[in-house]
Amino acid sequence: MEPHSNPRSVSEREQLLIDPGFGKVFTDHMATALWSEGRGWHSATIGAHRPFTLAPAAGVLHYAQEIFEGMKAYRSGDGGIILFRPEQNARRFNASAHRLAMPQMPEDMFLEAIEELVRIDQEWIPSGEGSLYLRPFIFASEAFLGVRPAKEFTFCVIASPVGAYFKGGKRSVSLWVSEHLNRAGPGGTGAAKCGGNYAAGLMAQAEAIEHGCDQVVFLDAVEHRWVEELGGMNLFFVFEDGGLITPPLTGTILPGITRASIIELLRRRGVNVAEEAYAIDRWKADAESGFLTEAFACGTAAVVTPVGALKSKDGEWTIGDGLEGELTASIKAELVGIQRGLFEAPDSWVR
Ligand code: PMP
Repeated sequence: MEPHSNPRSVSEREQLLIDPGFGKVFTDHMATALWSEGRGWHSATIGAHRPFTLAPAAGVLHYAQEIFEGMKAYRSGDGGIILFRPEQNARRFNASAHRLAMPQMPEDMFLEAIEELVRIDQEWIPSGEGSLYLRPFIFASEAFLGVRPAKEFTFCVIASPVGAYFKGGKRSVSLWVSEHLNRAGPGGTGAAKCGGNYAAGLMAQAEAIEHGCDQVVFLDAVEHRWVEELGGMNLFFVFEDGGLITPPLTGTILPGITRASIIELLRRRGVNVAEEAYAIDRWKADAESGFLTEAFACGTAAVVTPVGALKSKDGEWTIGDGLEGELTASIKAELVGIQRGLFEAPDSWVR
């Protein structure tokens, strides 16, 4: 460990924590480690948050061999610090690494890096509604232009105090249906958290903004019929008969930890949640008939966000009254309560 020789002052930090936004402010430190073929992981340390020195031929810059995670540290009411299911992030990190032909990282090493960074930068965890967003990532740092898995990788965790993900803490979002631009196809990298998936989604997201919507909703790449997910969130649909649907993990969507947690919380309530394909035409018809009473998106960054409206080249549909529905509000309250230590969590969900 090499603590920062010149960390920001208490008053500078307090100023930055007033309205940090999302992903713009970073803490004083970062965790790093290196991997080389034959040697494995080595040189794990915590040091000052600073730029990398990177060879122009580094694999990540050419072939996008990179994966990442997104998780948060929360401040509990009694001043403690909570991590929500971090071992799930460790597992998904390794699943992503496997898909991108990258080395596995022992779960303990991942968790230790996260915990050490949070410990040293704990004063950066906002109180109230904010949290400390943690971004672990691994990228190919070997200087080599041949197309093959790199023989050297860099691991890093950076931390960013965050407020609300959507500007103005908006109460519901509108979605644009991407009918021609795909995020992921069968056999591709859709279930991995790799930078390439996000680069592939940016143009569709820009299209959503052009159409006055907040986010894009992707359909399956083969039939352009089945609802998959948003650029950074999974979806749930709530029906008049009390049932819910969330798209199944077919390999083209990211297996969200928030998604899995919500399914479990709902099932504990005795609510019927189906992991079932939902067609875009049915979504439009169900919104029109009123059978679809609520829809919400979920993920670490945005937590639970109501979907108020759906827009496509064929028209526009309001979901329910376009505002936050009852079930959306109650599942959000339960999840946030667990993450902040207000409610008891199911077995080993918090650390
Ligand atoms: N889908 C995508 C494409 C995402 O980037 C994310 C955010 N990691 C999610 C879904 C939600 O996943 P989680 O609940 O684990 O944050």
